[in-house]
Amino acid sequence: ALVLVTGANGYIATWVVYNLLHKGFSVRATVRSAEKGKHFAEQTWSKPFVDQGKLEVVVVSDITKDDAFDDAVKGVDAIEHTASPFHFNAVEPQELIGPAVNGTLNILQSALKYGSSVKRVVITGSCASILEILPVPKSFSELDWNEQSIKEVEEQGSKASAASKYRASKILAERAAWEWFEKHKSQIGWDLVVLNPPYVFGPPLHPVASPKDLGTSAADFHNTILVPGSKSNEVLRSQSSSFIDVRDLGEGHARALLKDGIGGERIIISTAPFTWQEWLDVANSLTPSPIPSHPVLAKGAPYGESDQPIHFVVYNTAKAARLLHIGPGEAPEGVTDWYQSKSMKELAREVLE
Ligand code: NDP
Repeated sequence: ALVLVTGANGYIATWVVYNLLHKGFSVRATVRSAEKGKHFAEQTWSKPFVDQGKLEVVVVSDITKDDAFDDAVKGVDAIEHTASPFHFNAVEPQELIGPAVNGTLNILQSALKYGSSVKRVVITGSCASILEILPVPKSFSELDWNEQSIKEVEEQGSKASAASKYRASKILAERAAWEWFEKHKSQIGWDLVVLNPPYVFGPPLHPVASPKDLGTSAADFHNTILVPGSKSNEVLRSQSSSFIDVRDLGEGHARALLKDGIGGERIIISTAPFTWQEWLDVANSLTPSPIPSHPVLAKGAPYGESDQPIHFVVYNTAKAARLLHIGPGEAPEGVTDWYQSKSMKELAREVLE
């Protein structure tokens, strides 16, 4: 079967393509320029698949153009749409919202027009479209929608926080996808799945010549742990999120194509919650510690009297465990060997050592 993967040269998508190819799929990969395509196709891991005719790279220079994906969808059996801007440098929210929403609607529209062989579309959503920042810890599920960021962006425009601009782009894109699907489902022969990962860490498969080539999340991880002072002690202690290993997420995207009966599902795909301080503790527990110097924070009671991290953003991962056999907890017996999620320690070791 042939799978179209958009934004294929990205941090996550590279692992998606890798997993699909290793499961026997053929892949048509979209990138924004011929130069990026050449680079993508000439990696040690990708070139053999190109040579065997299993991996084809096509250029879609502007995903916001109405007919952007018309040619790319022809003859494919499934689509994994990952292309979307992920950075915290936008001034106007629309810089992120435009490509996120229109890129999503355009791939769906092209699949409607020219995707007669398509059976499933998987969209890389985000926990950004689920979580809200609250004064108390909360376990979020697929029933939650992040209205907070949309409201902030509507009210504050370019003055909204960088995170809210990005989060708004993800929830608006996801909502647009479900609304589009509801409207057009009688005209199409495929179903829709949205995967919602939290912060994604782990080894990049795409070439990284310097830290600036890391994706936004991997760069944040790298800077936090290896650049002393890049986050205040307060942020290290109290900023809480959840993470998934990028390899598990690649695997999850492949499983989302292989599993029957999951059309219509939005699925949180997350390994575990963290505070940044915990990553420092883990890195410090490696021998030798890769941390240049965070000596004070790594000792004592950095979380306060209880000395326990408080996780404000926790996800209920039961659905991913049930449908994709990915994520901690609740994996039925017998499938634990499928489940590759790395512990913080293993992951830190692989990334930092
Ligand atoms: P990367 O920046 O590494 O990859 C993004 C991909 O999308 C690249 O191929 C990039 O192309 C493409 N892209 C970005 N902006 C545009 C645009 N305006 N028009 C067309 N293509 C564009 O990011 P990630 O791999 O981290 O993210 C991939 C997806 O996963 C995104 O949808 C993101 O929202 C989502 N996600 C990421 C998380 C994370 O922690 N990393 C967490 C949850 C969701 P180019 O290389 O040419 O810029």
